[in-house]
Amino acid sequence: MSERDLLMIPGPVEFDPEVMRALGTKTASHVAPEFISIFGRALKKVREVCLAPSAQPFVVAGSGTLAMELAVANLVEPGERALVVNTGYFSDRMALLLERYGAEVVQEKCAPGEVPEVAAVERVLASGRFKVMTVTHVDTSTGVLAPVEALVKAAGRHGVLSVVDGVCATAGETFHQEAWGADVYLTASQKAIGVPPGLALLTVSQKAMNAWRSRKTPVRSLYADFGEWLPIMEAYEAGRAAYFATPPVNLVYALEVSLGQILREGMEARFARHRRMAQAFRAGWRALGLKTLPVNEAVTANTLSALYYPEGVDVAMLGRAREQGVVLAGGLHPQLKTRYFRVGHMNVVGPGDVLATVGAVERALAAAGHKAQPGAGVAAAQTELLAAR
Ligand code: PMP
Repeated sequence: MSERDLLMIPGPVEFDPEVMRALGTKTASHVAPEFISIFGRALKKVREVCLAPSAQPFVVAGSGTLAMELAVANLVEPGERALVVNTGYFSDRMALLLERYGAEVVQEKCAPGEVPEVAAVERVLASGRFKVMTVTHVDTSTGVLAPVEALVKAAGRHGVLSVVDGVCATAGETFHQEAWGADVYLTASQKAIGVPPGLALLTVSQKAMNAWRSRKTPVRSLYADFGEWLPIMEAYEAGRAAYFATPPVNLVYALEVSLGQILREGMEARFARHRRMAQAFRAGWRALGLKTLPVNEAVTANTLSALYYPEGVDVAMLGRAREQGVVLAGGLHPQLKTRYFRVGHMNVVGPGDVLATVGAVERALAAAGHKAQPGAGVAAAQTELLAAR
């Protein structure tokens, strides 16, 4: 990959140069005063980005799957019931994890590209005795945005803890953890958080922390146990060092820089920018005659596009886009894998990236014989960008 290529996949994404420079800083001791204060500031900023002022943040070396595992391992005990609102590949993974930790799992499923009805989920919640409900904020396999606010509030009404997988959403899609009453927001560094892969992040409500405190059985995983991590997070936030497992020092430097940038942009402004860029992308796709996998605009994510290949075009198109300087991703949902491709639009994404990407897709499609008015996609995206200024 050339350094000038654009990485437009749904994670990892393009990162800001200042964040990359922080990553290359000389590594300090994890108990050095300068690192302690950087880690402490990063933890406070995680709370602000998730709009969860009284939640407990956790930042642990690992990927998004570890963040999912931390939530499950700590909140669920064998035999407890869990409801998975399933919108695709990563909800399947959540169900697998819950089963691995001994939960009795009930799933509310839907066809790829759709989301389950909130009323149907609420009926299941009312039917009984769930400890947790999980929902994938944006399912990266389908590009579907779940109605998280309504779902989380429904769980709250039934006294069920809500766990929201924000790996492909956090700091890109509107989310007000505390105002909505979500108990766990879990994410990873490599998407809209703006830091290379390697960090699992969670913000956990005090209600969920108390549920963990009143467990009857020990957490089955040592590395995922809140009991090991809570004293570490509390110590760093209080300006002291503590050790359980070596923190990823340089990733924490980068995180502190990226979260600072995010907060300077402002959460509402950042959500709005992701929405504006997504709308411009969608205008470009429509003009090129591409159909999105999400069934309607209301369930379409702002962090990525999942698009069916048009007639006569297949996965070879991705290689052609790459020759045009833009890296795209293939399909992921097991039922449709070969029939669609994905374009990530998170973090630093701006108008120039939209136009470059839509242009590259247009040229790649043309090379595959797909007919469209030359420049139609770029013109439609540009029109949308001009209207949204
Ligand atoms: N959940 C969602 C919604 C994701 O998009 C991903 C990664 N694409 C994960 C979980 C798993 O994260 P990771 O690959 O970092 O383990």
